[in-house]
Amino acid sequence: MGTTLSFAAWMIVSRWEDRVAELEFSLRANNVASALQTGLNGYFDNVVALRALFESSAQGVSRSDFAIFADQLLPGQTAILGVSWIPRVMRDERAAHESAAVGEGLVGYHVKTVTAEGGMVVSPQQDEYFPVYYTTEGRSANQVYGLNLGDTEIRKQPLERARDGNLLAASENFVLQSGTADRRGFFVVLPVYRRGLPHEAVDDRRRNLLGFVQGVFQSDAMVETILGGFKSRVDLYIFAPGTNPSGLPIHVFSSKLRQTPSEPKPQAALNTGLHWSGELKVADIQWKLIAVPFGGAGTASDAWLLLIVGLLLTGMVGIFMWRSRRYALYLSRANRKISELARTDTLTTLANRREFLDQLAASFAAGNRAASPFAVLYCDLDHFKDVNDTLGHPLGDALLRQVAERLKKTVRDNDLIARFGGDEFAVLQTDAVDVATINTLARKIIEMLATPFSIEGSEVQITASMGISLYSAQLSGPDAMMIQADLALYRAKADGRNCFRFHSSDLDLEVRERVTIADELRIALDRSEFELHYQPQVELASGRIVGLEALIRWKHPKRGLVMPSKFIAIAERSGAIVPIGRWAFDQACRQLKLWLDEGIAPETVAVNCSAVQFRGQPDLERDIADSLANSGIASDRMEIELTESVLMEVTQQHRDTLKRLRHLGARIAIDDFGTGYSSLSYLANYPANRLKIAQELMAGVDSDPRNAAVVRAAIQLARELGIEIIAEGVETQAQVNFLISAGCTLGQGYLFSRPVTAKRAGRLLRRGTIETAASQKRNEHLAAA
Ligand code: C2E
Ligand code: MG
Ligand code: MG
Repeated sequence: MGTTLSFAAWMIVSRWEDRVAELEFSLRANNVASALQTGLNGYFDNVVALRALFESSAQGVSRSDFAIFADQLLPGQTAILGVSWIPRVMRDERAAHESAAVGEGLVGYHVKTVTAEGGMVVSPQQDEYFPVYYTTEGRSANQVYGLNLGDTEIRKQPLERARDGNLLAASENFVLQSGTADRRGFFVVLPVYRRGLPHEAVDDRRRNLLGFVQGVFQSDAMVETILGGFKSRVDLYIFAPGTNPSGLPIHVFSSKLRQTPSEPKPQAALNTGLHWSGELKVADIQWKLIAVPFGGAGTASDAWLLLIVGLLLTGMVGIFMWRSRRYALYLSRANRKISELARTDTLTTLANRREFLDQLAASFAAGNRAASPFAVLYCDLDHFKDVNDTLGHPLGDALLRQVAERLKKTVRDNDLIARFGGDEFAVLQTDAVDVATINTLARKIIEMLATPFSIEGSEVQITASMGISLYSAQLSGPDAMMIQADLALYRAKADGRNCFRFHSSDLDLEVRERVTIADELRIALDRSEFELHYQPQVELASGRIVGLEALIRWKHPKRGLVMPSKFIAIAERSGAIVPIGRWAFDQACRQLKLWLDEGIAPETVAVNCSAVQFRGQPDLERDIADSLANSGIASDRMEIELTESVLMEVTQQHRDTLKRLRHLGARIAIDDFGTGYSSLSYLANYPANRLKIAQELMAGVDSDPRNAAVVRAAIQLARELGIEIIAEGVETQAQVNFLISAGCTLGQGYLFSRPVTAKRAGRLLRRGTIETAASQKRNEHLAAA
């Protein structure tokens, strides 16, 4: 628009300027032309004055009358080459005329004519002659005298026009006979009729013609004289008709230099561009005038300035607009990026929690309008922390990215996958028409994640647990749905991981129960609702009690005796396990002290220690040391049972804590050995005093040869490492026999005793041994021997 406006303004202004210049110029040209016309007419007035002389004199004008008159007329008039009297001489008058001329002193006067070569000869006989008789034409007057103007067309025509029209007639512009070659000019003639005779009609005029007065003019000198004083910036080209077939002007007047421009232009060239044309009346004929601005150029226009300024402004506005558009684009791109980032998990490029919840809310809104049902599959990698700790965070991140990739390949395009942070992922399954569909996807995901990953050369195996919640109109909203999925996930974890669980109303009940238990646990310690039961550990061969394991019980005012399986996990989650564990260790120490005082104390009392407590060091160390100090018990009488999972959390801190516990002198036992991870390296890293073969392994010893093999191997391993080994969950004599044959000397289990109150444990201790049917037999056998 700017460009168009600039050009439009430029065109309007320059056209307007042109128009003004044209008007101005034509005014100037008109001035020049009319000055020329006036000047020209002034010259012709001389001829008119001369005719008046001839018309006024009754007895004719003598040669001297003419000379006197001409002398008054001509001085200073350089453009007038001369004025002449040209009488009409009839054929029969010629001789008298010629002799009269000689008589008046014109030596050798004859009526003459011009030859084709330009010379002059005596005119042949004719009916009528128009010889130059009186003239003021200077040096060459002798040549001019007698020249018959009637015998060349160029001269004859003006004479006839003047005679017939009683008017001033002009010749063409031609090289003047009387002058040098470059002297161009023309003459004008005015008829003189016989006095007193009529000359109104053409016939009368022809009959009564006396002769002509003539003025000869040098055209260029005349123009220069007239216009010499002019300062109008105009070049004037003068064209006479007929004399310039090439289109070249007869004269060019340039007012600036008062000289002819170097190149006289043809008329055609002048008619283009700014020009003015007009006519110059030279007696009875018209000369053409063309004026052009001086030097041929038009007037300088300032319109281009307007154009340039306009274009510059347009350019500036354009650049500004371009820049601001770019800036706006950049801003909107940045905005888009920001909002994208706000909805994306940067590590995996999956959606993030916020985006997922938004989509879920949208699905909910659609669900309320009876659109297709959907489900949330909430997924958590099992023991991802171990991967991070053992392989390092960069590899952990790489694993998460691969998990994301696999998830993308597993779900359908219109399902949404998100990473909630850490190792938690969620899938929003659309079109979850029935449980079978969801089942299929869940199984696919679990299986797909169980396939080993290859991360920077190392193979990583991981499993996932998944909780699933289905949309139902009864759900209050997305949050409720997420809570359900979370509960189901919790269930899947509790059920041994690497599996998925649907949310159910039972789960809700369970959760409510858990929440209540967590609340109650918080006050149970203050209300002294806990007590320790003790389970003997015996020498298999003799039945001698070598130690006791303290197992906590909760004497709930309403629920009765609550077993640890019901509340330990909850206490671990709520953190209540820390004070509870502290209490248990302290209580065990006190009890041991009592038995010591009574003299019935076993060699060791074992106390279970949760991984959560272990993470809470250095409080753990301090508490243990305090309890030992308070009861005054030798530290090597207390055994701390850790599950393998504690040892699996291999961190430098754990290692140091363990070392310091050992330093304190406390014994370390690895509980439930064989149920956790197959990695045995921790046995070398954390020298334990004792391994406790897990109940689960013992249970299958009789029936499953593979279980037996594992137990045998564990026993062998412990012996080679110089670690004591004890079997848990010993329930049958067959198990005892197996253990003895495999080289395990210690056992703990219902076969010997269930966990019992401290009071009953004291009774057992006082007895010292626990008789089983077999040991009884053996003892009897020994006694008999
Ligand atoms: P655990 O340390 O492995 O304890 C052995 C569990 O096996 C005890 O269950 C015991 O009653 C049971 N048991 C013993 N012999 C047999 C047998 O022959 N057959 C069968 N089927 N079971 C047998 P309990 O007392 O219910 O304790 C369960 C778990 O709770 C314990 O497993 C231990 O990990 C944890 N726990 C118990 N007391 C405490 C405590 O004071 N602190 C912590 N942190 N955990 C404790
Ligand atoms: Mg234990
Ligand atoms: Mg155990």
